[in-house]
Amino acid sequence: MINPQTILKNTFGYTNFRPGQEQVIDLVLQRKNVLAVMPTGAGKSICYQIPALINSGLTLVISPLISLMKDQIDSLNQNGIQAAALNSTTPQEEVNPILRKAYEGKIKLLYMTPERLAMDYFRYQLNFIDVDLVAVDEAHCISQWGHDFRPAYRQIYDGISSLKSKPNILALTATATPAVQKDIASQLHIPTENFIITSFARPNLSFQVVNSPKDTDLYIYDYIKAHSEEAGIIYTNTRKKVEDLTNYLSKRGISVAAYHGGMDTDKRTEVQDDFQFDRIQVIVATNAFGMGIDKSNVRFVIHANSARNIESYYQEAGRAGRDGADCQALLIYHPGDLRTYRWFIEQSDLDDEYRKIQFTKLAAVTQYANTSECLQQFIVRYFGQDCPPCGKCSNCLDNRKLIDVTSQAKSIIAMVYELDGRFGKNIVAQAVTGSKNKKIQEIGAESLDHYGALKMRQNEAVSLINYLIANNFLELSGDQYPLVHVTNNGWDVLDGKKQVFRKGEQKPIANGLRDTS
Ligand code: ADP
Ligand code: ZN
Repeated sequence: MINPQTILKNTFGYTNFRPGQEQVIDLVLQRKNVLAVMPTGAGKSICYQIPALINSGLTLVISPLISLMKDQIDSLNQNGIQAAALNSTTPQEEVNPILRKAYEGKIKLLYMTPERLAMDYFRYQLNFIDVDLVAVDEAHCISQWGHDFRPAYRQIYDGISSLKSKPNILALTATATPAVQKDIASQLHIPTENFIITSFARPNLSFQVVNSPKDTDLYIYDYIKAHSEEAGIIYTNTRKKVEDLTNYLSKRGISVAAYHGGMDTDKRTEVQDDFQFDRIQVIVATNAFGMGIDKSNVRFVIHANSARNIESYYQEAGRAGRDGADCQALLIYHPGDLRTYRWFIEQSDLDDEYRKIQFTKLAAVTQYANTSECLQQFIVRYFGQDCPPCGKCSNCLDNRKLIDVTSQAKSIIAMVYELDGRFGKNIVAQAVTGSKNKKIQEIGAESLDHYGALKMRQNEAVSLINYLIANNFLELSGDQYPLVHVTNNGWDVLDGKKQVFRKGEQKPIANGLRDTS
């Protein structure tokens, strides 16, 4: 048998395996079912491409995106490896010749969407072919707990087990929380001992949260100006915002192009190539951009409108610094942006349970934006691992003095208690700052002990509530309209057993508290 190391060198031109690759390949070649969880850019593809070249039969690759398949096949062909794809864009007259080539062993890798694998015709045809391995890419799509659930993924296991040649399975993903890992494993019959999970930490990335800049466009412009020699990606959440921000930057002399799903394929390819070959410095894009792009020297990724969940955020931010050199990931956070994401979830045709999960994921973004712990650590913990504080994120570098905010925190927590956990953040903020609006009158909040107890602006109160939630003094329940409740930690504050400290605000806040740092 040719060994994996030789193929790595001779076919792919790399000297050493990256973390996890060798273990995955070994297990796959032992015909085990394996789950590989590795960050974006870690080199997951080689984990099935090398076995595909060693095995005598065919490797099927289940992939959710047609564009992703195309890029992979182009680069395989460049390395002299025969690969093809079957998907909804494959002309009918090409389907049988591709299947024939696979049958004759002239194709080593065959990519297909899960929807194809679910079709009886293909399953029937595949029974004539010796399939050794099925690689399931973006395996988190199988799980309702994931951020990209795709119903056809549910049928993959049936598809695979109906194949006569009884292939083994390699599931791959960059973003799977422990719950998602468990779900993938149970659906695809992967034993825990065959989980290969490499570290989620990305030591060369510095994370920053930028809280509500006054003029986001200007902030981004200034940032790019200060990094004028560096390639970067800016994500925003609608096509219109992509166009608007691109125009804004372009008018001010930035080398920038737009990228979104509404543009035609040729234009998108052109933009992608211009970026790849450094003819354009900055891309402004929706989340349609990035899958399958392989630019190693992206130095910054800015999310101009927050993010819809931590999984996508980490995947998108992770497109910076694939070369291992230092780079930055900025999340610009305006609480209002989450309303847009909430609206996206409400408007979607998801079932109720899945919708609930998406709301929970959105809440984690608020936590990320408001936490005072290390941002890298927050993300790594979110995925069920741990790491030391990174020392370079905006929280690790935040050396503003800690201010004792226990008394304000007490007023808020007491108000949450008085409102009996029946209301959301905004009502709590309105009540505790003494708003006289209709809703506040309707619910009789004016007669509560802590009505108007806080002399600060309502948005400052909301910010403090978010901080208390992010640091586990309060918690949210429910999904679409989350309600605020007091946690055990919060009770300890009311009982005088715990104090609450917060890094000083840059600007003095209205209740007379000043940052003395
Ligand atoms: P992922 O799917 O995990 O995001 P890819 O499989 O696309 O990552 O790999 C990312 C890049 O790393 C590709 O350019 C790939 O060729 C390269 N790569 C993979 N393995 C190695 C290795 N052992 N040494 C150097 N580069 C590698
Ligand atoms: Zn840090």
